[in-house]
Amino acid sequence: MTAVVMEEIPSRVTLAVEISNCRGNCEGCHSPWLKEDVGEELTEEAVDRLFAANYGVNCFLFLGEGRDADALVRLALYIKAKYPVETALYSGRPEVEKRLWDVFDYVKTGPYVKALGPLNSPTTNQRFYHHGEDITAVFWRKKGK
Ligand code: SF4
Repeated sequence: MTAVVMEEIPSRVTLAVEISNCRGNCEGCHSPWLKEDVGEELTEEAVDRLFAANYGVNCFLFLGEGRDADALVRLALYIKAKYPVETALYSGRPEVEKRLWDVFDYVKTGPYVKALGPLNSPTTNQRFYHHGEDITAVFWRKKGK
């Protein structure tokens, strides 16, 4: 799935792309099909096509990491070098490596735990960072909490 979204990254018009081959094992997984190797490979050419078809976005979000960290970093660097956008990663892991912090402006960490809720739940275990600063609370304020 690819979509332009407004909620996932606050104050950004975000082009969000689901990444399959998820390494996670979240109980109550909300997107089980992403554990399989499905969909079109996200290449530099595919990224270019997405930007051409979605003029005006100012953030590119990887909804998942897949299993090829080198390719993920390469694509994030490609996007940052070529387009005037920020990059974002929704990881399902509790921590990510330094090289991912270095290439993504926004990083979401933490597995999905149904009982605790997603980012917009004040009880969530997940964390949302901008340049390393935990700004998870912006999702709660948006709900008026
Ligand atoms: S990170 Fe968790 S919820 Fe998301 S697709 Fe992977 S297993 Fe499912």
